[in-house]
Amino acid sequence: MMDKQNEITAGEMAAGLSRREFLQVSGAGGLSLSLAGLGGTLSSSFVGDVFAAATTVDYQNSESVYRDLWSWDAVTWGSHSNACMPGSCAFRVYVKDGIIWREEQVARADASNENYPDYNPLGCQKGCSFSNNIYGEERVKYPLRRVGERGEGKWERISWDEALTAVAESIVDSFAEKGSDGFVLDAPHMHIGGVAWAGVHRMTALLGSPCPDLNVEIGDFYKGMFDTIGKMHTGYSCDNMMDADVLIMTHTNWSYTMTPVYHFIVEARYAGKEVIWLSPDYNPSAVAADIHVPLKVGTDAAFWLGVCNVIVAERSYDEAFMREQTDMAMLVRKDNGRFLRADEYLGEGREDQLFFYDTKAGAVVPAPRATLAFDGEQALEGSFEVTLASGETVTVEPSFEQLKRRLLDYTPEKAGEMCGVHPGLIEEIARKVATKVVCSYIGLNSAKNYHGDLQERSLLMAMGLTGNWGKPGTGWNGWALPIEHVELLTILQKPVAEGGLEMFGQMEHQLAEQLRAEDPEITEELISVRAVQGMTKMLGMVPPVFWLYNHCGFKELYDNDAWQDPEQKQSFSAYMEEAIKEGWWTPDQIRPSPDLTPDVLLLISHNPLRRIRGGAIKYPQELFPKLKMIWAVEVRMSSSAMFADIVLPAAWYYEKEDMPYAASQMPRYALIEQAAKPQGEALPEWEIWDALTQKLEEVAASKGYTEYGDFFGQQRQWAGLNDRFTMNGHLKTHSDCVKEMVAIGVATGGMPPDLTYEKAKELGHFPVQSFGQGFMKHIVANEHSPDKPFYSLKWHLTKKLPYPTYTRRAQFYLDHPWYIEAGEHMPMFKPTPKIGGDHPFQITGGHPRHSVHSMHLTQKSTMRLHRGQPVIHINDRDAMELGISNGDMVKLWNDYSDSELMAKISPQVQPKQVIVYVWES
Ligand code: SF4
Repeated sequence: MMDKQNEITAGEMAAGLSRREFLQVSGAGGLSLSLAGLGGTLSSSFVGDVFAAATTVDYQNSESVYRDLWSWDAVTWGSHSNACMPGSCAFRVYVKDGIIWREEQVARADASNENYPDYNPLGCQKGCSFSNNIYGEERVKYPLRRVGERGEGKWERISWDEALTAVAESIVDSFAEKGSDGFVLDAPHMHIGGVAWAGVHRMTALLGSPCPDLNVEIGDFYKGMFDTIGKMHTGYSCDNMMDADVLIMTHTNWSYTMTPVYHFIVEARYAGKEVIWLSPDYNPSAVAADIHVPLKVGTDAAFWLGVCNVIVAERSYDEAFMREQTDMAMLVRKDNGRFLRADEYLGEGREDQLFFYDTKAGAVVPAPRATLAFDGEQALEGSFEVTLASGETVTVEPSFEQLKRRLLDYTPEKAGEMCGVHPGLIEEIARKVATKVVCSYIGLNSAKNYHGDLQERSLLMAMGLTGNWGKPGTGWNGWALPIEHVELLTILQKPVAEGGLEMFGQMEHQLAEQLRAEDPEITEELISVRAVQGMTKMLGMVPPVFWLYNHCGFKELYDNDAWQDPEQKQSFSAYMEEAIKEGWWTPDQIRPSPDLTPDVLLLISHNPLRRIRGGAIKYPQELFPKLKMIWAVEVRMSSSAMFADIVLPAAWYYEKEDMPYAASQMPRYALIEQAAKPQGEALPEWEIWDALTQKLEEVAASKGYTEYGDFFGQQRQWAGLNDRFTMNGHLKTHSDCVKEMVAIGVATGGMPPDLTYEKAKELGHFPVQSFGQGFMKHIVANEHSPDKPFYSLKWHLTKKLPYPTYTRRAQFYLDHPWYIEAGEHMPMFKPTPKIGGDHPFQITGGHPRHSVHSMHLTQKSTMRLHRGQPVIHINDRDAMELGISNGDMVKLWNDYSDSELMAKISPQVQPKQVIVYVWES
């Protein structure tokens, strides 16, 4: 019989127990928890009771508590597919009586070689307490059907068969009326896990349905990097930083967000490297830097252009690098600001054949397109007269001349005025950049800035002027991922053992032949980019802008001129229409069609109400009322899943086998084993897709449908859908998929050649071998070797391979008429428009210390580390002026929306800056 104390529930405690009573109860509960797994009576409901302090367990003394902690039935490999960076930390997961009891970091991430630090200990507080999430109150454990209004939170529990039938009927009915665009998969995040991510894309690709691109939709796309080098898949391993002289970190806060590898920063400092941290707030990472650059919010471009100004003024730039690797020697017409092109200059030839002035030959000569090698010397300065095919004479000059004139606007004094940094500091950093090996890191925060592209282009220009890429110790990060084992699982038609990969080899060969016929100077990288575009089309992945604009009500936001760059001459709609008319975007990218209203939306590992700015209002107001079925597959109830009609419960990490992607920062694969059965009736996602594809066939047949039309006008058969999904039964479970992933990884060279599934289970954590055979190796442009640090872009320097840009060089001059019109044909600083109206504070964000992705924020262990609710960080003087005290609830609003948050007062925040870290994503 329980005593009175232990009859009190957690809710009652919160409701009004005295501090003493609370401590008594929680103390008893806590000790009971430590013992609970050890008495042989453990069950998940038992653990729930213990958390609620509804029961106790006898124990002898503290020694028995300690000893019993080290008792278990099984130990498995674990990791977390959070898409945390770097992620793929290896854990041992301890299981007793079917309950995951705790996890422990594994120190197997050795140094690449004896000259570099190792990666251990890998892990963060979120991963070290992840098992709490599994038994958290937010878990979705059973299929649920909405019984109240959408978003009201009223549900009934239903069977899997009922749930799948309802979903399948909605899809089949929509396909009968509207074809494949009636069903939309909205941007699943990789934190779903590699198998589940591949599976959902495999299923929707077989159905022919569209899916907006995730990275763009959530603002994880480095546009400025893409504009400059034609790719965003670059990066380096953390030990590459040890080969630098100076580390420059911007838009990031590694002590919060890169916890497992933050020690590399510290080790670099011990090794004599200098660390420079750019951030408006004196963030916890900046505290440990040699130099903190406290620039004003959103003014990074001004700072970097000030740095470039000094480098150019002092002529401390690397001319050979600029001539060969960048477009700075490309000739530009002075009359219209456009590149000199072969069709207008010679009256024949390719429009994208551009020119240098060769000082050795004393003539204007074509810039090689197939190589960066040049048998001459490109002029970087001067101006030259040329006669066009039309007979007109125009003056041309290397684009560097234009850049030099642009930089006159950014003397250290002028730039300092714009960005709030002392001119002396700008000069000091410019001299370091010009004379030292610099490794930079641009956090994804820049990708979420309105003018983040200009900020990235300006930073890259400083690196381009000084030759700071493609060499040991240099570079910046992007998405350099050995990922073929996940991506190919989306489209493989036959197992690797039966020649499944041959199809891709043949397709790529045919594509290469065709592209070489069109352009004999096309590069391997450009061929692989075209292959990826083909794959993207197969998967139905589309730019999200059309989805948001046409179907989710974002037109109103995009066309609000007051919230846009004031130099924008036309409305967003006018630009978009022109782009479509010009064929820059094609109908297969504008899906679902603007004139079609989708019926069915699948949300999995995606929370658009939180992740997409404006989503919390626009989705419920504009999109949801049009939909006949919203269904979600989730491990936990999210803000968006709350609006679903059907919610299906998914297994979480440790409840299913998986292998997440590896990132270049920490190039290792981690295996996740199933440690315990999923909670309630949750299922591993691949098994959900397997069951659903069967159900779709069954429902279609029962309704008399044999086929449906896809977006491209092809008829697809319902019959056989499940066989195609499972490769005729080859892929039925997550274990089957992980086996196939290993087969793909070994066959493509991304994983060690002697690796087998059994060996992977034995090792648990093993190094990336290479970037594989596909597009990624061409894009990162360097071999990866497990025994040395990795950095990107080397082959552009050593093999003289061109970049996948219009000029085939790193491109700082964008002569597109829109860019010229906006003044952005060269990097420049523009203040952030007053999106949301003219208000005094600027809000910045980021990931909080307690959560890489916010799924961890509400679990008990991490709740202890923060205030347990969203907070707003505000400068102490601002708070004093407004009469705000620490812990007060404050209202935050603009013309669009408002919220109430608890104030956290901090002098580390700049005046008129407020920080709200991501609460839920
Ligand atoms: Fe590592 Fe991510 Fe797990 Fe943290 S949550 S331990 S960073 S894999």
